[in-house]
Amino acid sequence: MTEVLEPREVPLGGPRAMTVRRTLPQTQRTLVGAWCFVDHYGPAVVAETGGMVVPPHPHTGLQTVSWLFEGEVEHRDSTGSQALVRPGEVNLMTAGHGIAHSEVSTPATATLHGVQLWVALPDAHRETSPAFEHHVPEVVEIGGAHVRAFVGGYAGSASPVRTFSPLLGAEVALHGDAPVRLDLETAFEHALLVDGGDVDVDGTTVAHGQLAYLEPGRTSAEVHGGSGVRLLLLGGTPFGEEIVMWWNFVGRNHDDVAEQRAAWQARSARFGEVPGYVGDPSWLPAPELPNVRLRPRGNP
Ligand code: MN
Repeated sequence: MTEVLEPREVPLGGPRAMTVRRTLPQTQRTLVGAWCFVDHYGPAVVAETGGMVVPPHPHTGLQTVSWLFEGEVEHRDSTGSQALVRPGEVNLMTAGHGIAHSEVSTPATATLHGVQLWVALPDAHRETSPAFEHHVPEVVEIGGAHVRAFVGGYAGSASPVRTFSPLLGAEVALHGDAPVRLDLETAFEHALLVDGGDVDVDGTTVAHGQLAYLEPGRTSAEVHGGSGVRLLLLGGTPFGEEIVMWWNFVGRNHDDVAEQRAAWQARSARFGEVPGYVGDPSWLPAPELPNVRLRPRGNP
């Protein structure tokens, strides 16, 4: 039986901002491999939603992976990187010890449609130096679908972007009505995020916006959708560490994220400055910490 996780609607970056469908984390599942956060948005008409406007904000202990289906987002960060996120091109930002970045959809963007994913860094690497990478994966035909492996490798194609645990992130675009067989790495657990229409995954219906979880040990999954349906195939070895994820920080306990929050509020050099950001506000304050201590979470 395939576990199906429902998305919840969350405003992105503030009350006036566009909403996203968040399928990770949730009560019954914190991680899939090292994937710890899945936001899916659009197709959203920018004239109605205002698009994506996220002023400079910090991250720690994670990598962000941005992948678009439509539209264009300008990324700036405190390592000095400035880049456009475009459909079919992956932007991977390693926060490590600390980074700040901004994300704004460009004036040319009429429709915004894509995902933002976070990867938890293993404890041994979560203080690594911040970095930014961009890559255009090749398109591989697997029989009924075009696959783009943007993190890790799939069907003979490998992405060079750096990961710190065994990981897979790939777009699977269905182009026919026949069932498609996805070969799976048995040591990995996987998740399939569905975009653009309902899909049957090994006999279970998974609708647009839902996330199907596939436990380790599976050698393949048969998906049956139709032309125009896209899947995001995420996988990795079970993470095996508990994490505390709060706001934009991933730590191991309450004190980690309290220290990171205090550093951001104090405008510490730990996060640096984002050069060239012209919006207002120019800096996103952290919310208040809850009154109770944050507890580490793993998978059930
Ligand atoms: Mn961010």
